Amino acid sequence: MVAALSRGPGEILGRERIPTRTPEETIARLLSCFARASEEFGSPEALVVGTFGPADLDPASPTYGLITATPKPHWSQTDLLGPLQKALGVPAVFETDVAASLYGEVTWGAAQGMKHAAYLTVGTGIGGALLIDGGILHGIGHPEMGHMRVSRHAKDDFKGSCPFHQDCLEGLAAGTSMSQRWGIPAEELPVDHPAWEIEAFYLAQACLNLLMIAPPEVIILGGGVMHQRQLFPLVRAELLRLVDGYLAYEQLRGDLVNFIVPPALGDDAGVLGCVALGQRLLAGRF
Ligand code: ZN
Repeated sequence: MVAALSRGPGEILGRERIPTRTPEETIARLLSCFARASEEFGSPEALVVGTFGPADLDPASPTYGLITATPKPHWSQTDLLGPLQKALGVPAVFETDVAASLYGEVTWGAAQGMKHAAYLTVGTGIGGALLIDGGILHGIGHPEMGHMRVSRHAKDDFKGSCPFHQDCLEGLAAGTSMSQRWGIPAEELPVDHPAWEIEAFYLAQACLNLLMIAPPEVIILGGGVMHQRQLFPLVRAELLRLVDGYLAYEQLRGDLVNFIVPPALGDDAGVLGCVALGQRLLAGRF
């Protein structure tokens, strides 16, 4: 987890990274990070938590602010927002980490000024968020698009790593599944390894599904696996092959270099997205 105070790009103060251990230990460490940063830089006016999921984001729900049924040990049904908000005593927003990253990119990054945008983060797991008409999409919960179903690649006989669905998108394409399938971590696979063609095949299907459900102006692909930049042209080419001329959007003309893009804010997208959401809260736009 990352704790920071910030007013926006170029001003991320007192940033500290802490490992996610038990809730008691982790929340106590977050609180001490905020206490140190507040002493040095002044007290925050708003608190924004961009959390891993699944989490209850509905302020009207009795379990608002809780991590819900996660396979992460010790964290199921943990109140993450409550103790932080109680200690800081300021207005708060509780969102997913990937929605925060998307909001950061919309405010200051690769989707700046756009009304419709998507963000998929491909790391140890896969998460996603959609911005539609300027608002982050929620249903009766937050999107779990990492667990969408995808068709299997003809050369892929890996059974899948998702503990719930085995060969969903996350089970086939997350960093965890890559390292299980190939026996080495994704970041150590050579650029010309067959893994990347298979990975692009799955990620392009995810992009196609997003395009068919809620067509965005841009799809941002972030997370550790996407540090492998050779994946971008492979995903773009595969997406064009899958669309096969069916959709006539201007954004799908050419080689998709402006449609399938990396996050412009890089690894700051999450923190800056939280700041952007906090500014929106303070401006009364929630
Ligand atoms: Zn799954």
